[in-house]
Amino acid sequence: MMEAAFYTLGCKLNQCESEALASSFKSRGFFITKASEKADIYVVNTCTVTTKAEQKARRMIRKFARENKDAVIFVTGCYAQLNAEVLSGLAENVFVVPLVLKHTIMDLPEFILEKTLSGMSLTEAARYFIDGRTQIIHEEDRFKFIGSTHTVHTRAYLKIQDGCNNNCAYCRVRIARGKSVSLRLDEVIERALDLEAEGYREIVLTGVNISDYRDPDHPEKRLPALIRSLTCSLKTAGIRLSSLEPDMIDEDLAEAVMHPSVAPHFHIPVQSGSDTVLEKIHRHYKADRVRNAVELLKGAKDDPFIAADIIVGLPYEADDDFEASCSLLQDCGFSQIHIFPYSPRPGTELYTVPLHVPERVTKERAGRMHDLAASLYKTYVKRWMGREVSVILEKESSTTAPVFWTGLSENYLHMRVHGVPGASEARGRVVRAVITAVDNGIDADFVEFV
Ligand code: SF4
Repeated sequence: MMEAAFYTLGCKLNQCESEALASSFKSRGFFITKASEKADIYVVNTCTVTTKAEQKARRMIRKFARENKDAVIFVTGCYAQLNAEVLSGLAENVFVVPLVLKHTIMDLPEFILEKTLSGMSLTEAARYFIDGRTQIIHEEDRFKFIGSTHTVHTRAYLKIQDGCNNNCAYCRVRIARGKSVSLRLDEVIERALDLEAEGYREIVLTGVNISDYRDPDHPEKRLPALIRSLTCSLKTAGIRLSSLEPDMIDEDLAEAVMHPSVAPHFHIPVQSGSDTVLEKIHRHYKADRVRNAVELLKGAKDDPFIAADIIVGLPYEADDDFEASCSLLQDCGFSQIHIFPYSPRPGTELYTVPLHVPERVTKERAGRMHDLAASLYKTYVKRWMGREVSVILEKESSTTAPVFWTGLSENYLHMRVHGVPGASEARGRVVRAVITAVDNGIDADFVEFV
């Protein structure tokens, strides 16, 4: 039996696509092994959001190639789309599949089996696969990522959208992934019902910018309409949304997410709290629009978990601009802040802007932002002390007695759940639990299975 390993960097969409690729290998009889172990085939799904993500990809590709000379390493993803030559030059046994052809890897296991059974070596088969691929790409190809190995996640990812029509001045993703496209609404419903039938209790809607969702058959049907169709169709599975653009959070969306099967967890890429900086980096909103969006979501759910992305050290960011970011995040009472020190990206408008914030200042600002993030998170978690939440159980702690389960609550709190009755087949099940402690991580006591 041949072994395949997957190494994925970046966003939920990349995770979703890797999960589908892995399931295609698994369904053809390949054993899915960890990337830290030996394998015949490695698939590296790269990211181009930061320089660090690219450095990590190169490092891991070299490691796989050096430690497994007989293996073949397929490299795909956003970085591979924009810098294929750099990556294919890393080692002899590295084969680059640009992002636009990533879907063809769904057919790779079958191809490899057929060619190696006919006497070809793995490397020859890999070369043959790369040279023989069609260059004709259809829009629907970008949604060929179906399937799950059930090995990695207890929640299912569902890709509903790809690409982006915005032109944020720091962003390389839109260059790699191209214009926004969406999966037909009927198809989304069908795939969600399949995942529910497979036993998934939660479906995470992913894309590059799901706020851009638009049913190709009925363009007037946007994300709120899709959410309503899903909450109407699904019986046992809930849905969780990935990032929402602030300027796309309006009354209609707030009304749609009120439905109890939509998780009270939202993620907003705010990026800056300064109207001056927001305008210069081509974000389509001002700080007050973010305040309004957060108010709408807080009005739609009972104390939802709202996370924000913030970039510190952007060109143009003066001290006042940074202070504006801090006060916006504080005013909105975000539950979590993802902090990104600005990373100049080749090919983006900001890359050539001379006005760079000194690294020392960026580090200081990131440090202050971390302190703010820690205090906001603590404030949020403290509010949930003694309250009951729904939790999807993920992993049983086999090394401690009494045993507990780790899990993720509907409002995105990672916690230890104690006192879950029955043996170890509770993975992926939904339980009610009461939060009993929040000082050293979060502890909760089991109440009942849902
Ligand atoms: S919204 Fe902006 S940052 Fe996000 S993918 Fe589109 S262009 Fe990039």
